[in-house]
Amino acid sequence: MSEYATVGKPVKVDLEVRDVMMNYGASGSALCFNCGNCTAVCPLSENGAPFPRSMVRFVQLGSREDILRSPEPWLCYFCNECSATCPRDAKPGNTMAAARKYQIRSATFAPVADLLVTKRWGIAVLLAVASLLYYAGLYYVGALKLPSQLLFQAFVPEEVMHIAGMVAGIFAVTVMAIAIIRVLYWISRGRESKYDSLGRRIKAIFGSLPLMITEVLAQRRMSGCEQGRPRWIGHVMTMWGFIGLFVTSGLIYMLNPNLANYPYSLTNPIQILANVSAASLIIGMSLMLYDRRTGRATTQDHDYFDWVFFYTIFTAGITGLAVEVFRFSGMLLPTFIAYSIHIINVLFLIAFAPFSKFAHVGIRPFVIWYSKYAGLV
Ligand code: SF4
Ligand code: SF4
Repeated sequence: MSEYATVGKPVKVDLEVRDVMMNYGASGSALCFNCGNCTAVCPLSENGAPFPRSMVRFVQLGSREDILRSPEPWLCYFCNECSATCPRDAKPGNTMAAARKYQIRSATFAPVADLLVTKRWGIAVLLAVASLLYYAGLYYVGALKLPSQLLFQAFVPEEVMHIAGMVAGIFAVTVMAIAIIRVLYWISRGRESKYDSLGRRIKAIFGSLPLMITEVLAQRRMSGCEQGRPRWIGHVMTMWGFIGLFVTSGLIYMLNPNLANYPYSLTNPIQILANVSAASLIIGMSLMLYDRRTGRATTQDHDYFDWVFFYTIFTAGITGLAVEVFRFSGMLLPTFIAYSIHIINVLFLIAFAPFSKFAHVGIRPFVIWYSKYAGLV
């Protein structure tokens, strides 16, 4: 079987796929005259997985199968060196971003993904639902009142926090795991194995893990993009901020499930890790925002999908820090308000992670791991 589903077959243009891709930002692909310049200048394109020209072609053809079985969207880091040099201003970098969205949409529940990705009011509806559930939960357990003391379990009872966190977490992990499995299935389908024995296959599986780990921890491929280097620092700081906050939440959950003496003092090691991680997250996001606003990323088109992701994380980081500032200043009402917004944002972020740009964090490392295993990179 060929690498591409359309090779050697009559081409049937799927207009619906093309329309969805156009909506996702691939509209420039209609201008492409297939000169190949973009693939030649892309610093991350390799012989085993050449892009972005092939993806532009798939969009022109409306070939759903080719778009879905391409690992290339996950090997691209949206530095847009290709778009900056395209003679037709076809913005092939945007087509790669659209292909990532299309794969996320196809691997999750499309109606929910569509609401988040394309409808500008979608985020407002989803946040309103999250807020309603949150306040209804507090009302149900009789906690919808301003407490007399600055203890978080007086704001939100721990059982409400645990149940809400577990429901959101289990939902997100399940949807994300299904999405990763589906994407891996699509991109591996029909590819011939280059290993002639089980032993070699197992060795290659483990041998490909270091690349996956360095991608998760240092986003090494992204630093290979010259125009992407300024973004790389912001990305890595954001990523480490997230990992730190994830570890902190896990430690609190395991070591102090009843939230005794919580919030901790500023000198508590867990609190130090939480505050350093929050600072890393906010600085990383600020660097990316600066990059977008000042023109270092002017060749990129960031759409609604990108901004929703950006602002919900940013709001979670800012409100988390605000909670710390208010509570150490002894300001009860501002702490309560900031904490409520923070919790709603965090629960929203967790539950909708697989449908948002957050899915990159789950899918990309696995696709890079498979691509290394299959000899594509
Ligand atoms: S450089 Fe532009 S016109 Fe040439 S193949 Fe790439 S997208 Fe098409
Ligand atoms: S955006 Fe950057 S990494 Fe992606 S295809 Fe274009 S040049 Fe390559």
